[in-house]
Amino acid sequence: MSVLNNFHIEHQYLNLPDAFYSRVQPNPLKGGRMVCFNHDLATEMGFHTDNPEDWTAVGTGQALLEGMDPVAMKYTGHQFGMYNPDLGDGRGLLLWETIGPDNRRWDWHLKGAGQTPYSRFGDGRAVLRSSIREYLCSEAMHHLGIPTTRALFLVSAKDPIRRESLETAATLLRVAESHIRFGHFEFAAHHEGKEALTTLMNHTIRLHFPHLEKLPERDRYQQWLAEVVARTARLVAQWQSVGFCHGVMNSDNMSIIGDTFDYGPYAFLDDFDAGYICNHTDQGGRYAYNRQPEIGFINCQFLARAMVSVMPEEDIHQALRTYEKAYNETFLTTMRRKIGLEVPLESDINIIMDLFSMLHEHHVDYTLFFRGLSTLPAKGAAPIRDLFVDRETADHWLARYAERLQQETRTPEARQAAMSRVNPKYILRNYLAQQVIQDAQTGQYDSLHRLLKVLEKPFDEQPENEDYAKLPPDWGKHLNISCSS
Ligand code: AMP
Ligand code: MG
Repeated sequence: MSVLNNFHIEHQYLNLPDAFYSRVQPNPLKGGRMVCFNHDLATEMGFHTDNPEDWTAVGTGQALLEGMDPVAMKYTGHQFGMYNPDLGDGRGLLLWETIGPDNRRWDWHLKGAGQTPYSRFGDGRAVLRSSIREYLCSEAMHHLGIPTTRALFLVSAKDPIRRESLETAATLLRVAESHIRFGHFEFAAHHEGKEALTTLMNHTIRLHFPHLEKLPERDRYQQWLAEVVARTARLVAQWQSVGFCHGVMNSDNMSIIGDTFDYGPYAFLDDFDAGYICNHTDQGGRYAYNRQPEIGFINCQFLARAMVSVMPEEDIHQALRTYEKAYNETFLTTMRRKIGLEVPLESDINIIMDLFSMLHEHHVDYTLFFRGLSTLPAKGAAPIRDLFVDRETADHWLARYAERLQQETRTPEARQAAMSRVNPKYILRNYLAQQVIQDAQTGQYDSLHRLLKVLEKPFDEQPENEDYAKLPPDWGKHLNISCSS
């Protein structure tokens, strides 16, 4: 039985002008099976279900709950730097919005629900492989403390889906405080005009930036844009610090509230490689790991350009200037925490940048290095030295680091405890995702559930799960993750 009486249902998005959406009914899939249901998230959202199978029919699009009024959202955006006016939800539907007991808002978005007016040449479907990847990574990000959309449930179906080969269909019920993207504003500005744009801005501010709502108009818009820019900068800084490559940072994949949004060919770095390109089809490396900070800014510029008819140019420039400061502050603060520096020194940036150069030059596993640094007092230098072919390089850096630690006042034990809360032991390596996908494709989901459990506590030692924290096997490095999903 599902108890749904603890949340409140709304359709605020439908108050926007008609051009922002199309009403579409899901096109049902056959033979649905509930693969994962996120009970903890359901509790956060204000409901509970004893029997997740009750939700299978919603997942396959066979049934809607009373009050659901599905729409495909219209947006546009820049893909790989080129403006595309024909975007929009091509395979996902916003079912309704709910407000939980803590007053938090949730958009419910069913991804893979069938074609919409914005599907272009697509079939409106999502495959099991990519739905599992999105479920895993959005939950992993959440537990790492990085803003993200979440996954409420995943349903597989019997319908065959044609990609490079025949695959299994699935749907993912994605939830987020908002599904409004930078691309919504580009659509409004470039196709609908000033009135639609200000309506969208005021809608977004009222629902998601309520602390700005009462400001006079000029301040309200200026501070709002500055805050969106700052959130974007902080998000990308967090990605960089954990070694996350998004892979498709198009402006239609940028959330207006600063969530990690749209999981495609993403990757967490194994061996550190500053220029790593996780998206097989991104031949120019536009979205390589070390370009993400700049691309985040370029996306903010696309958003800013959409504002020229409603904001003075100087306000737009001022808002854009917050990017660099917010990025640098977050990045430096996070990296200081990662290497256990509590007393800030001007020179810290040097030791941090030299560290990145060393990790890059020696292809050192990013996650294991920082975890090894966290446990130096307890486990000694061996876990770090073992990551280097040339151990002298490691020793040299460690000696410099030990010298820097002389300036610190915390005990080594306190430092170790603090560092272990910011340097994950467990991350979603691509090969781990690949293994559970292979199992899922033969109908075995135990390994998926086990991996999800491990990723719920990325900072805990979990001695029983050491295997998940190992270096990837050779076959598991640099897997080609296809963009088709
Ligand atoms: P993405 O690369 O997932 O961000 O998608 C870019 C655009 O293509 C969005 O407008 C999607 O809705 C649309 N799209 C992606 N895959 C499909 C599909 N299989 N069917 C229809 N539209 C799709
Ligand atoms: Mg997208």
